[in-house]
Amino acid sequence: MILNKLLKITNILFPENCKQCDSILDYTEFFYCKKCLSKVNLLNNEIMLCKQCSNILDNNDHDDLCSHCGNMQFYFEKNLSIIRYDDFIQKIILDCKNNGKDKQFKYLASYYINKEIELLKDYLSDINLIIPVPTDKKTYKERGFNQALTISQIINQLFGIEINKSIIKINKKNKQQKSLNKEERIKYQNEIYKYKNICNLSNKNILIVDDVFTTGATVNAISKMLNDLNCNKLKIFTLIRVS
Ligand SMILES: [Zn+2]
Ligand SMILES: [Zn+2]
Repeated sequence: MILNKLLKITNILFPENCKQCDSILDYTEFFYCKKCLSKVNLLNNEIMLCKQCSNILDNNDHDDLCSHCGNMQFYFEKNLSIIRYDDFIQKIILDCKNNGKDKQFKYLASYYINKEIELLKDYLSDINLIIPVPTDKKTYKERGFNQALTISQIINQLFGIEINKSIIKINKKNKQQKSLNKEERIKYQNEIYKYKNICNLSNKNILIVDDVFTTGATVNAISKMLNDLNCNKLKIFTLIRVS
């Protein structure tokens, strides 16, 4: 009660604006207004999703697998994403990433993860280790945070699953992926990571975490490496699925 009153007073004295539409936020809103947050499309509302990669299925897809999965050899069991990629979410995420807005990104990720908490509870029930996709030093310095680690920390706080950042690291300077075509991206991903530590993962059920799943090449390259360390089980969690 007292906290609510304080928040109300602070809100009247120092009103904040929505980072997306600039409307004045009320005391229950942080960074974004409820209207903007509700514009983000959740994949859980889609009727048909690929059972391996959370892609939206179209009428030509058979056996619950999308055409992309039919053409790829994946080294992980499944990818779960919770947000459908579109221009709106892209604009929000790029603003966070390009402008070093770690707290804003954390709020967003946490908001949608909590919205899909039941889905996550079920998905993570057999997981005992989280590995965030590493970022290279240059990107980290520019951005000020690793979004994969931020998401991992949210999951760690909610489910108490340990995070390990000392198994996989970046091999080379990260080329700007935007300039690569699909085939180049897949090829290049195989050279981008290397082991920081060689260990036996035979009793580990691992969740690799990243912010966006596009071709799956990033998480697949890391999956292959973790499989080579004999991990018991491997799943992926990404906030956003690009269809
Ligand atoms: Zn807004
Ligand atoms: Zn698929």
